[in-house]
Amino acid sequence: MNPFEHAMLQLNKAADLIKLDYNFIRLLEKPDRTIQLKVPVKMDNGSIKVFDGYRVQYDNTLGPYKGGLRYYQSVDLDEVKALAFWMTIKTAVVDIPMGGGKGGIKVNPKELSFGELERMTRSFARALAPFIGSNVDVPAPDVYTNGEIMAWIVDENTKVKGEEDLGVVTGKPIEKGGSKGRDRATAMGGFYLLQELIEKVFNQDVKTLRVAIQGFGNAGSVMADLLTELGLKIVAVSDSKGGVYSTEGLNLAELKKVKAEKGSVTEMNDVQKISNEELLEVDVDILVPAALENQITEENAANIKARVIVELANGPTNPGADEILNKMGVYVLPDVLANAGGVTVSYFEWQQNQENDYWSEEVVLSRLREKMLAAFEDVWGKSQEYGVSLRTAAFVSALKRITQRIDLSQL
Ligand code: GLU
Repeated sequence: MNPFEHAMLQLNKAADLIKLDYNFIRLLEKPDRTIQLKVPVKMDNGSIKVFDGYRVQYDNTLGPYKGGLRYYQSVDLDEVKALAFWMTIKTAVVDIPMGGGKGGIKVNPKELSFGELERMTRSFARALAPFIGSNVDVPAPDVYTNGEIMAWIVDENTKVKGEEDLGVVTGKPIEKGGSKGRDRATAMGGFYLLQELIEKVFNQDVKTLRVAIQGFGNAGSVMADLLTELGLKIVAVSDSKGGVYSTEGLNLAELKKVKAEKGSVTEMNDVQKISNEELLEVDVDILVPAALENQITEENAANIKARVIVELANGPTNPGADEILNKMGVYVLPDVLANAGGVTVSYFEWQQNQENDYWSEEVVLSRLREKMLAAFEDVWGKSQEYGVSLRTAAFVSALKRITQRIDLSQL
């Protein structure tokens, strides 16, 4: 199943539950605009390579289109459309005045030199410039993009437009108009929610809980730190090259050092090596998919031991697997809620840029916590009220917020 079909199944499930007017479903089944962009880059050897870039502006009922840009070899229109749709739901779940969008380039960024990465980004930014702006569409980092890349986009956008628009992207470095706390926000948001869920689900000391984390990028590694500080034991971690496992718990400081020096957690000594697939089935209480889409499927869902899954990645669980997990009584904190801390602090960054007034890290984190907990309470309440999963409940909450603002009689 392609990711967009996956997203549409989720939409229809929630819409059916609340008997949403069919006209709204028709409206939400298509993005407002899909933009395909040519991204020519001068490579280090002097040749020109032309990459495929995309931006999907899905829905702006609640505010400017908002969502990341990813650099990855599997990027295509269906994937970006699905991710843009999920952003539409996500911003509505956490109740921020932003819509949904997503973009990216089909490229393996690991094959680019630093200079090629910068030239590709600047070329992409020039192609994107007519379509983005702080009141129109606001990109941000996503898979294999970061603050430095965002700063190049601002710079190039300024050159094209002749004036600086700081809020044109978020996730910028702090010295270039970024927000304190943005780099840790995705994991922090998920962490606040998980603490609430732990209280509801586990009747035991948190120090006895074991965790596996798939993906050791920004979201996964920060989550590992936060959970370790709380006393939980991280027993398995993986990155794109594979994973490591230790029933005793992994030494995180060592793991980070190995990853930084040798490029992968799999270079760690004295631990059991496991594959990314095996990591999902390890005997743990909490599983954190923090990598890519479509990891938990009909094939492996029944083998999952965790009672709680925290989706820091977007789209890690496909709809078939969702049904299985539901029947097994597994609590899935869905992506559109679990990883919404990132876009929430992106919105705070955008606000700070608009007002030219910058907040302390404590203020950012306390406002983030407030937003996440309010969303959790709302979604938890709806899941109890309708007797459905947290995912369907999150979709219900978002659909209500969005459709309330659409006046069908104006169409
Ligand atoms: N890429 C992140 C996401 O999937 C953040 C998007 C943003 O900050 O706009 O939620």
